[in-house]
Amino acid sequence: MKLTIIGSGYVGLTTGACFAEAGHHVMCVDNDPRKIQTLLDGNIPIYEPGLATLVKKNVVSKRLQFTTSTEDGVNYGEVIFIAVPTPPQPDGSVDLSYIEKVAREIAVCLDSYRVIVDKSTVPVKTGERVSQTIRRYAKAGVEFDVVSNPEFLREGSAVDDLMHPDRIVIGGNSDRALAVMQKVYEPFVAPVLVTDINSAELIKHAANSFLALKISYINALSEICEISGADVEKVAEGIGMDKRIGRSFLNAGLGYGGSCFPKDISAFIAIAEQLGAPLNLLKEVEKINAHQLNRFLQGIREALWVLKDKKLAVWGISFKPNTDDVRSSVAVNLIEALVAEGAKVTAFDPKGMEKFKELPLAGKVTLTESALEAARDAEALIVATEWPEFATVDLAELRDVMRTPLIFDGRNLLDPEAAASHGFQYRGIGRGTLP
Ligand code: NAD
Repeated sequence: MKLTIIGSGYVGLTTGACFAEAGHHVMCVDNDPRKIQTLLDGNIPIYEPGLATLVKKNVVSKRLQFTTSTEDGVNYGEVIFIAVPTPPQPDGSVDLSYIEKVAREIAVCLDSYRVIVDKSTVPVKTGERVSQTIRRYAKAGVEFDVVSNPEFLREGSAVDDLMHPDRIVIGGNSDRALAVMQKVYEPFVAPVLVTDINSAELIKHAANSFLALKISYINALSEICEISGADVEKVAEGIGMDKRIGRSFLNAGLGYGGSCFPKDISAFIAIAEQLGAPLNLLKEVEKINAHQLNRFLQGIREALWVLKDKKLAVWGISFKPNTDDVRSSVAVNLIEALVAEGAKVTAFDPKGMEKFKELPLAGKVTLTESALEAARDAEALIVATEWPEFATVDLAELRDVMRTPLIFDGRNLLDPEAAASHGFQYRGIGRGTLP
């Protein structure tokens, strides 16, 4: 099939590459000429494991192409996927201007039947709005259907998630469009859930909110563990062994961040409020998330007393491992808070430093070539992102390069006993403090 993706960011580009890999012919559109030029030059504007190989392979086999022209995209694909940003507004609700703009752009180019698929994360009832908008601006009589097909990929494992999804959700109100969508996903072996558009839209916000709730639950427990002397890792293991609960998303840490969870949770709160059925439960989730970072910072202040002019090493900048994405990263918020208090922050991240350099904060931070280099002469080390390579650092070497052997492990990545046996004072999350 011929498919078009409008918006070639983390979701659009990866989806396009995976559709091409599955045998479709794909045109990826983006209105950022720099991004498209980078792709046309054979480079990949983001880091995602396996993506570069997939893009190169499918460009060579002519199943994947790139353009800045929405018109070319609309003419090309029988299915048009929308994968543009849906950022938060200051009040937490979703800024739908990108979606509206694309809907209008598609409308004026429509000549014959197309299935228009919303892959961006949008509030329930957005599909209806997209439909109305296209109807308003399209030529009279031109046929189209709007479908919701929310994306559940995780950055860091996006290629694998797209090639082997847990489920594919397709929300549509037209049999013709649903048949086209079944064909799009025919090459993928995964359960397909067909729903109406509103339910599909709701599933995405409900799923992300549930995951954030799970993270916040274990984070709230981590505070109780610290006070009571219990070990949150054991508590998570114990509750996670119950099949009804499951162990995933029960990792205590600095809280959730990234380009999706914070905005999707605040969006869902705003959506529920607008609908007249407030989700106060999620307000509590947001409070716990903010409290978790504040609590951690307070622990650093208590241990170091004065932060001003102290050299502090931070390991990890990206919002999670295996990605270069630093958008709404808790690690970045943490660095910002330390810098604001006058600390001299030295940081290292295996993939996130290039994107971090685009932020004004980067000018106030020293970035290094390695984790050990960041820790040199530091008065404390803070683990902010759980990159696996940090877990295997030689603790003896680390001890040698640091000025003071103090570790604040915001992701419970290191082994507290191993750290203690190398002379470190270690403080994790919900694990108590070792001498
Ligand atoms: P992104 O910012 O990485 O990519 C969006 C792209 O759309 C950008 O390259 C931008 O230049 C382009 N764009 C904006 N307006 C355009 C227009 N009018 N025409 C053509 N291109 C345009 O964003 P993303 O992370 O890929 O997220 C996209 C959507 O997918 C959001 O709604 C997000 O919530 C959702 N989502 C993201 C993830 C994730 O992990 N990143 C996972 C699931 C769902």
